[in-house]
Amino acid sequence: MTDDCIFCKIIRDETPSDKVYEDETVVAFEDIHPAAPTHILIVPKNHIASINAMEPDDEKTVGHLFTVARKLAKQLGVSESGYRLIINTGPDSGQVVYHLHLHLLGGREMGHLG
Ligand code: AMP
Ligand code: ZN
Repeated sequence: MTDDCIFCKIIRDETPSDKVYEDETVVAFEDIHPAAPTHILIVPKNHIASINAMEPDDEKTVGHLFTVARKLAKQLGVSESGYRLIINTGPDSGQVVYHLHLHLLGGREMGHLG
């Protein structure tokens, strides 16, 4: 955990969020600027800055982000229509928050990656 990280603050309930899921290792909440009708961020409770900062011990946690994404996609009704999972890493990707997070986007047709 870091003091000035917005997602650490959300995890500690020091900043409000619309949480849709929580367990021992991850939380999931609504993105504040949704890019699709469904836009959830799935975030490890442990502060990992990005995929570049992943340690071997983090593999299970990062894998768990995808399991939670799959379950939330079903719960939110986008499992069959389809959804996109994105992890931005570094400046060229547009990563803004340096606390690892998996975007779950769905509810509209997104087309191919440009
Ligand atoms: P990224 O560009 O992958 O780092 O994405 C960061 C995402 O976090 C963006 O989609 C933001 O809209 C979202 N975000 C930033 N602050 C908050 C917040 N306080 N609550 C919910 N989502 C946030
Ligand atoms: Zn953090």
